[in-house]
Amino acid sequence: MHRRLVTSAVVAAVCATTLAGTATPASAAPRNVDCRKVRCVALTFDDGPVTDTRRLLRTLKERDVRATFYVVGKNAQRYPATVRDASLAGHQIGNHSWDHADLTKLGAAKVASQFSRADAAIKQATGKKPTTVRAPYGAHDATVRAAAGRPLVHWSVDTLDWKYRDTARLIRTVGAQTRPGDIVLLHDIHRTTVDAVPGIITALTARGFHFVTVDQLFAPARLSAGKVVHHNRAAYRP
Ligand SMILES: [Zn+2]
Repeated sequence: MHRRLVTSAVVAAVCATTLAGTATPASAAPRNVDCRKVRCVALTFDDGPVTDTRRLLRTLKERDVRATFYVVGKNAQRYPATVRDASLAGHQIGNHSWDHADLTKLGAAKVASQFSRADAAIKQATGKKPTTVRAPYGAHDATVRAAAGRPLVHWSVDTLDWKYRDTARLIRTVGAQTRPGDIVLLHDIHRTTVDAVPGIITALTARGFHFVTVDQLFAPARLSAGKVVHHNRAAYRP
């Protein structure tokens, strides 16, 4: 690609025009991976962004890995540039409520407000409304599912990273437990988790995994509003 650009001014001009007209650089677009045929995993990072999320984004960029961030609305409002840059880098941004309340303890109007305020902060940062939500603590009921108005994407590999805060243990857990179609729950608010990401990527790459966003994991299926999913293992038919 680079050599052709050098040797052909016409191609270079066309490429430059195409890139300039695209909101996301071509290199940042998620890879076209068919998770029905190859081993896929969706790494998900919850509860941020925090200042350390920048370090995580650098690691993901260096390793050419796409992930999904379930951000808390008030943190997105505090660090909008981090959310914007994550989105521009090809990561998916999901709604994880406004302030991480247990939504099953709130009335319908407050649940709706938790989602809509977070949507507004994310849209302000990225220009896009999230296509999925994740309920704090994975706690949901009929009111929460109705208010979400989108699929609820939870997880199948519960790393308990928030409890152990142990980088080596986290790498071992994810490396050993992950199966094709899994969704891994991680928290970028913990330094020990961000420290573990290079090792997690190395361990899963060695097992042949491709790193995809949540939307890619379920493609080409479209999840319905209010549906709760934990993984997409059934789709994997190599
Ligand atoms: Zn959370």
